[in-house]
Amino acid sequence: DELISQIAAGEVVERPASVVRELVDNALDAGATQIQVKLMAGGVRAIVVEDDGLGIPSEELPLALRRHATSKIRSLEELEAVGTMGFRGEALAAIASVSEMAIASRSEGAAHAHRIDARSGELAPAARARGTSVEVRELFFSTPARRKFLKTDATELAHCVEAVRRHALARPDVGFAVWHEGKLVEQWRAGTAEQRVADVLGQEFVAESREVAGGAGPLRIHGRAGLPEASRSRADMQYVYVNGRFVRDKLINHGVRSAYEDVLHGHRQPCYLLFLEIDPSLVDVNVHPTKIEVRFRDGRELHQRVRYAVQDALAVSRA
Ligand code: ADP
Ligand code: MG
Repeated sequence: DELISQIAAGEVVERPASVVRELVDNALDAGATQIQVKLMAGGVRAIVVEDDGLGIPSEELPLALRRHATSKIRSLEELEAVGTMGFRGEALAAIASVSEMAIASRSEGAAHAHRIDARSGELAPAARARGTSVEVRELFFSTPARRKFLKTDATELAHCVEAVRRHALARPDVGFAVWHEGKLVEQWRAGTAEQRVADVLGQEFVAESREVAGGAGPLRIHGRAGLPEASRSRADMQYVYVNGRFVRDKLINHGVRSAYEDVLHGHRQPCYLLFLEIDPSLVDVNVHPTKIEVRFRDGRELHQRVRYAVQDALAVSRA
């Protein structure tokens, strides 16, 4: 089982940022309103994610670390719905197989917190308020071949911050803070969607973009499309969410690019932040362990809706 977990880890855990993504996923699933991400050495030495969510009852702590142990799938329909972020019950087991992991948690009404060490399975009393802290230390310590692929601490840190940023854009109602080596790197306070976009992507992007509001019925699109001047300052700002989940989707990206065809000349990349709300029965998730890809029942329709929505925002006439 250890080996199977390590193989699963190969798909789920590529670098510290993958761990950050999964742990923040879990914190959000647990209903957290404040999430702290504390990193050492770009996350390679340590990743600690603390939340104020529901917590895990002490008797369930050993279970949380087991493969396919998820508290989240109750029916097949739930598997189809993109409602919750995590849904396969593999992340914690996979991460634990390639690191030194410990979880401290306190659930509502518990007299105190408990801490479990993943390797020994030892459970001990601990002190903390309601919520969960997951500590991941010495990532890939037992798989030096994988550790060799990691980049500099600064690069890994940037990827970790980007992982939090992706969550933060989708959840303005939750406060996020990222620390590195004891220093506060980013802090986004809970607030409105507008405020969050400005805090995370910058006031400049807000000024240099237009509101997107398109689609109808089972396929709605909203967000912001950057004007050509926005791509001058930053070219790597492309965020797409399907039902609250960050995705990288070729079809959607192509739809956006075709909207920009006559606006952005040359090799410039458009900047955009798009939230697609799609009837769950029209999308397939669970295509890839990193949960970043989504398959659509009617790709052509989706492509066109995305293109029109962005064209309308940019006030481009429809060809
Ligand atoms: P999944 O998220 O797909 O269920 P994970 O391996 O990520 O699988 O987590 C396993 C289980 O551990 C979750 O289903 C949940 O019950 C529990 N868990 C993990 N992280 C947290 C957290 N931060 N707060 C509360 N429960 C958690
Ligand atoms: Mg999860």
